[in-house]
Amino acid sequence: MTRSFAAFRGRVVTTLVLLALGAVYPMSPVAASPQSADTPLLLSDYSDPTNPDFVGPPGQKAWADPTSDEFVGPPRMIPFELMGQRVEGGSVARLSWTASEGFAGASVESPVVVVHGSRPGPVLCLVAAVHGDELNGVEIVRRISNTTDPMTLVGTVIAVPIVNPFGFSRDSRYLPDRRDLNRYFPGTAYGSVASRVAHSFFESIVGHCDHLVDFHTGSFERSNLPQIRADLRLPEVVAFTRGFGATPVLQSNGRRGMLRVAATAAGIPAVTFEVGAPRRLQGDAISFGVQAIETLLHSLGMTGDSPEWDTQQAVFYDSQWVRSNSGGLLINEVSLGDWVHAGQQLGRVVDPLNNREESITSPIPGRVLGMALNPVVLPGFAAYHVGAETSPQQAAIRDSGDESVEDTESDVEPLSEREHPRSPTPGEAVRADLVPPELDDVSDIDD
Ligand SMILES: [Zn+2]
Repeated sequence: MTRSFAAFRGRVVTTLVLLALGAVYPMSPVAASPQSADTPLLLSDYSDPTNPDFVGPPGQKAWADPTSDEFVGPPRMIPFELMGQRVEGGSVARLSWTASEGFAGASVESPVVVVHGSRPGPVLCLVAAVHGDELNGVEIVRRISNTTDPMTLVGTVIAVPIVNPFGFSRDSRYLPDRRDLNRYFPGTAYGSVASRVAHSFFESIVGHCDHLVDFHTGSFERSNLPQIRADLRLPEVVAFTRGFGATPVLQSNGRRGMLRVAATAAGIPAVTFEVGAPRRLQGDAISFGVQAIETLLHSLGMTGDSPEWDTQQAVFYDSQWVRSNSGGLLINEVSLGDWVHAGQQLGRVVDPLNNREESITSPIPGRVLGMALNPVVLPGFAAYHVGAETSPQQAAIRDSGDESVEDTESDVEPLSEREHPRSPTPGEAVRADLVPPELDDVSDIDD
């Protein structure tokens, strides 16, 4: 879906498209005149009583004198209704979602920006800060909602920059009760704090989306290469991931309670978009995310222009976390996004007390999709996330018979509730690809 709509800007081409669509506007293709610069046309000013349902091509603007035979006017757009409010076609509204009540009893609100286009189309939801300390997505969502022109937009963008206002205000990943909001969707009306906030958000916002992008970052001093995580077993999700330009895609089933999993289960194709590290704004990562969403808007037929990409989209059907087996200071030998071969040194852990050094190597060939930023690690700390270039068939073979292998985003469950696998004996070298899945719980690492 990378074809450019730039040509549609040409009036002659636009005319041909209108004819091809069977438009019945009384206009002459040859005698068409450009829009007058000093009389801007407002959507609310015009309508076509003979054909109120006419839908033009993406980005088609009203032009020409509305009293003339050449007039091409925008169609009437049905107002968008959200949380009891109406947003007119071709306009932007800033609404407010009540997430919960605070300790003082006052409502805790979060902004919801609705950009309602001038022609009917898909509803794309962009949400961030489900984990309150993950800031890059907040800025990406803000920029997209600020720069999207409702007069040329097809469809609707719903932008929620802060889904977890509790965590955001406290610089915390969690809700005040230490629960992870992204384990409680779609939630219930009478459950825990997290479950109620999730339920309110799902009912108020998510149910109105046709597609959903949920922005996250690495967690706990880890940074992620900008990447989409998606359940590629679902054809509609696969099709959705194709719209993000060259943004890498990582197969991930996800886990019950995650927003993207709950949305997809409700028939709304959804992905997690990982961008950078928590508790900071990273300019390059933010720019990448903005470009990816601009590309997505075009891919969904919502805007006329698309950014250019000079690389192809890579898909990783498998990935592995590589852990440190000793405590000390972590010195990275690779950078985010590097391609590595099996056995290549990713980093070293140096022990400042005994002056010992342990090398951490990649068990597989692949690309560094995530890595630790914190220089101090304990044995077991997940330091590098390597995406494997496997085919879907190979990934399926590796994963067959054990659902939890690829469930790298799972919650911590007490080990007593599981079957204990054989633990490595002290001093035994642990190859990450041989670690039993039950031991490879990386729940707090990701979205
Ligand atoms: Zn997150």
